[in-house]
Amino acid sequence: MAYTVPKLKDFSPEAVDKAAGELLSALGNESVSVKSEADKKTFRDRWLARKDGILTQINDLWLKAAPKEAKREVGQGVNKLKAEVESKVEAALAKSAAAENESSVDISLPGIRRPIGAEHPIIRTQNEIVGVFKNLGYSVAEGPVIETDYYNFEALNFPPNHPARDTQDSLFLANQESKPRREQLLLRTHTSPVQIRTMEKLTPPLRIVIPGKVHRNDPPDASHSPMFHQIEGLAVDTNITFGDLKGTLDHAMKALFGSNVKTSFRPSFFPFTEPSAEMFVSCFICGGSGKRGADPCRPCKQTGWIEILGCGMVDPNVFEFVKHNGYDPEKISGFAFGMGVDRIAMLKYGLDDLQLFFQGDVRFLQQFG
Ligand SMILES: [Zn+2]
Repeated sequence: MAYTVPKLKDFSPEAVDKAAGELLSALGNESVSVKSEADKKTFRDRWLARKDGILTQINDLWLKAAPKEAKREVGQGVNKLKAEVESKVEAALAKSAAAENESSVDISLPGIRRPIGAEHPIIRTQNEIVGVFKNLGYSVAEGPVIETDYYNFEALNFPPNHPARDTQDSLFLANQESKPRREQLLLRTHTSPVQIRTMEKLTPPLRIVIPGKVHRNDPPDASHSPMFHQIEGLAVDTNITFGDLKGTLDHAMKALFGSNVKTSFRPSFFPFTEPSAEMFVSCFICGGSGKRGADPCRPCKQTGWIEILGCGMVDPNVFEFVKHNGYDPEKISGFAFGMGVDRIAMLKYGLDDLQLFFQGDVRFLQQFG
């Protein structure tokens, strides 16, 4: 039954208090069923309308009707009650408005436009390089970023005391000292361990590229980062020669940097290849002249050549570790190469600070969208 404001017979503070309590409890009950816009108007009018609203009735039935000696106290009680009723009515109206917003969808409103993402310049460069080798029939192999000493060093023919194992160069996981050396875990320092992991799984012939993150103990600066990206390649078959290596990489560099680039191989050393070489491409920024107009060309240090990767014929000692799976160095041969994706991306996009790639600044990254 709907609440009606009673006439008071007793105007004592206790009686007014009790009547006020009943009124507020009725207000609470009624506010629960306020849902539609029409409900809201009816509810508001019933309680607050100047003409005949419940607040006005309290004024007439309680305050005006009070005997003279009780008026002061009844007036105080009624004023307090009015303020309370007003705030409760407003709160009930606001609450039902919020509930309505939650449950209804205005399909005529424009949608929320989310910015379309883009490939990070390093991932884009990585995909381009991988794409060149995929076109040559290579498949993609991957492996863990946390590696054992065995896969990262030992099976790649690093001698036991090779300085690359030094913690100044490599990031070993904590509390590994009690394990045998070959089981000690570190963040892989190159993607080469995946060569061994793949040769353990697949028999020759094999043609793979291995993109991925690698880590070294290098403080970040314009050309170093403790985390960077490599792409490694491995081809194993019968009668693979250094001529195959040169032809493959020369083709890949022309596909990546333009058909005009020349390649040059200079002797080098890596534990897992023999012979080993560093490959240079003619500078695709200055065209090999070493100059840009009257200025020296910085990316090639005015030499006209840019060192781009390390490569070589797979050392027979490496094949010994996977001989059981068909990699007999007497019968097969292969070549391997590895390049730094970040450096190639810097050259391609003309950047001189490696850190820009990793700071996550959208203003920088948006340029590649
Ligand atoms: Zn140059």
